[in-house]
Amino acid sequence: MSNKVPEQMKAQVLEAYNKPYTLTDLPVPEISSDDDILVKVDAAGYCHTDAVLAAGQMKPNPPAFPHIGSHEFAGTVVAVPKTPSAAAKSYPVGTRVGVPRRGYHVCGTCFECRDPNNDYEGFSNFCGKGLSNGLSKHGGFEYAVVDARQVALLPASMSAVDAAPLMCAGVTIYRALKRCRLSSGQRVGIVGAGGGLGHLGLQFAEAMGLRITGVDAADGPLQLAKSLGTKATIVDARSTPAGDVVKEIGKADGVQDPANMGLDAVIILPESQASFDYGCKLLKNHGLCVVVSFPENGFNVSARDLVFRDISVVGTLLGNNSDLQEMVSFASKHNVKAVSKTFALKQLNDLVDEYNKGGGGKLVVDMAI
Ligand SMILES: [Zn+2]
Ligand SMILES: [Zn+2]
Repeated sequence: MSNKVPEQMKAQVLEAYNKPYTLTDLPVPEISSDDDILVKVDAAGYCHTDAVLAAGQMKPNPPAFPHIGSHEFAGTVVAVPKTPSAAAKSYPVGTRVGVPRRGYHVCGTCFECRDPNNDYEGFSNFCGKGLSNGLSKHGGFEYAVVDARQVALLPASMSAVDAAPLMCAGVTIYRALKRCRLSSGQRVGIVGAGGGLGHLGLQFAEAMGLRITGVDAADGPLQLAKSLGTKATIVDARSTPAGDVVKEIGKADGVQDPANMGLDAVIILPESQASFDYGCKLLKNHGLCVVVSFPENGFNVSARDLVFRDISVVGTLLGNNSDLQEMVSFASKHNVKAVSKTFALKQLNDLVDEYNKGGGGKLVVDMAI
């Protein structure tokens, strides 16, 4: 261990479900494997899943209280193992890394881990036995021990506050867009376009050359989606029926047959059935619906859409490590950035209050404040 690492840290913890975070002193976590690196977190995002976890809707997570939250963060490596693994060797002390949630200490032997296409031999962040930062193990609300195989190297030009929201929101929406399998010029819809993932999605989709319809149903997020300066058509679902949007698209594309009017793919970010239904109505025949949210009671899918319109529905989770690194480079190249509001670590409960107001964009703890 480097002697610059203190023994104690300030950490924001959950002590029970449905209770505010408590700022407390805890020992700095210790490296326990040759794949581990200790990261001093410089910025940590707050994500919808943090709210779901705190509400007790992700049981058995967290495994115990007190629990340190945040599963998307960026920081600086401050300690490495005495005999680092090949992956840990790539991130010497002083390296800046971004950390997503999945893939801490995977089992190494299941079919996911043994997939020859994995980024590292014996490592897959889809391993069911791997832990998740901030959920099934402690997260980034200050120092965190993470698995070197799960992190991304950050370019010098990318600030920690810009990098942190990319580690969950960014990689999730980037992967969802890739999952749409569209080529430049095709049409994609993003339902929930002004939220944390959505507003990043508008920017990624624009840089991918897609024609975008962004949908939201609240004033703040709609305003945010419009303020980004993308060429996306932004639709208020409260006042514009999906059928009208489809007709407009048909007109713009010079299409006569209603079955051939609409989007090639749509991404569903909110948890409401109304959002899911709205998104599916925007699809033309043979369109693809990519589901990102996972409401407790699921979505009702219209069997008629599947049978008579040949709509497909797929889900998507975070990408693998190559997707993560690719997303970081893509975001850096195309200047994709979350519109974020920053808070000091000690103001985390103010951040949560702000989150509950639903203004859109991302809320990030900046340790430098
Ligand atoms: Zn998240
Ligand atoms: Zn495994």
